[in-house]
Amino acid sequence: MTSRPIHAQINISALKHNLSVVRSYTSDTKIMVIVKADAYGHGLLHIASALKNADGFAMLELDAAICLRNAGYQQPILLLEGFFSVAEIKLFKQYQLSAVIHNEVQLEMLALSKQHEIDVFIKINTGMNRLGFTPEKFPYVLQSLASNSNIGNISLMTHFANADDPVKNETVQKQWQCFNTTTSGLNLPRSLANSAAIIRHPKTHADWVRPGIMLYGASPFTDKTAAELNLHPVMTVTSRLIAIQNLTAGDKVGYGGLFQATRPMRIGIVAAGYADGYPRHALTNTPILVKDQLTRTLGHASMDMLAVDLSTVKNAQLGDSVTLWGEGLPVNEVARATATISYELLCALAPRVEKTLQNSQLNSKL
Ligand SMILES: *Cc1c(COP(=O)(O)O)cnc(C)c1O
Repeated sequence: MTSRPIHAQINISALKHNLSVVRSYTSDTKIMVIVKADAYGHGLLHIASALKNADGFAMLELDAAICLRNAGYQQPILLLEGFFSVAEIKLFKQYQLSAVIHNEVQLEMLALSKQHEIDVFIKINTGMNRLGFTPEKFPYVLQSLASNSNIGNISLMTHFANADDPVKNETVQKQWQCFNTTTSGLNLPRSLANSAAIIRHPKTHADWVRPGIMLYGASPFTDKTAAELNLHPVMTVTSRLIAIQNLTAGDKVGYGGLFQATRPMRIGIVAAGYADGYPRHALTNTPILVKDQLTRTLGHASMDMLAVDLSTVKNAQLGDSVTLWGEGLPVNEVARATATISYELLCALAPRVEKTLQNSQLNSKL
C-alpha cells in the first residue's frame, strides 16, 4: 500500500457481469475478449483471470501474450497487429499465438520462416483504411497462405470504422457487404464485430465477436449511456482532498491562474494529476465527485494535483473522498467533458496509481 490516497478499484464482479451482457447479445458466437493496453488500463492478469471462460484473448503486445500463455490459458491468443519480424514468428509457434496478417511484408516473413506453423487471421480492409488487404488483393493472399504448409488454421476478419455511430449505419452496411462479397463461398471462421457492432449490428456477429470497451463497463456510444446498456463500471478511480483554500473574489488558482474566483469560495486540492492519468486538457467544469456529490474541476490539472469547487459540497473537509470516474460518475461523462473518449481515459491510468481488486474471491492488491 502506498500512502498517497489515489487508487483505482477494479470491480471483478462488474467485469463478469459485463461479459454476461456480451453473451446475452451473442448466443453461441465465440467471444474473443480484447485485453490490449494492459486490459484497457485495468491490469492484464486479473482481468484475464476474471474472464477465463472467454473463448479467446486478443491484444497487440507480444510480451503480454506470452505472459498470458505462461499463466496457463489454453484459449487462442490473437495478436492484432501480427508479428513485426521473422524472429518473432518462432515465438508465435512456441507459445501457440495466432497472428493477424495484414500486409505484404508479413507474407514475406512467413515465406522466410519455414518451420513455424501458426494460426492466422487474414485482415481485410473493407473501408476503414487502417490495416488489411484490399478486396482485390485478398484472393492472392488467401491462396498464398493456403498453399503454405506452415500455416495452421486460417480465419478472416475486418474492423468497422463507424459501428458506434447512430447515424452512419450505411458505412457499417457497406463494410459488411464488402466483407461478405470478398469472402463469399469460403468455409472459414469470420470475425467482424467490436463492442459497438455487437450491440448495434447483430448480423455482423459471425463466428467470433471482439468486445473491448463494453467489458470494462463504458458505453461505446455517445447517444446511449453504460447504464442504459446495463454495463457496470469496472474501474473506479478515487483520491482525497489534501488541501482546502478559501478564495476571495479575484483570487486565481493553479499554474497560469486559469481559474479566477468572482466571489468568495472554498476550493479543494485533490491528490490526482496528469501523471496519474487525469487529462491535463480538462477545463474548468469537468465533472468530479467530492463525498459522492457532483461538483467541478477548476483550471487545468497539474502533474500531481487538481482543484475542485467545494461551494456546493456540504461540510467538505481534508481527507474527504473524491471520485475521478467510475462508480457514481460514468467515465463516458468525464470523457465527453474533456473532448476525448472513455478508452483514452482508462488506458491512460498511470502505473503509479495502485490498483485494488473489488468483489473477487481474494480481495487483494494487484
Ligand atoms: C480494440 C479492438 C477491438 C475492440 O474494440 P471496442 O470498441 O473496445 O469493443 C476489436 N477489434 C480490434 C481489431 C481492435 O483493435
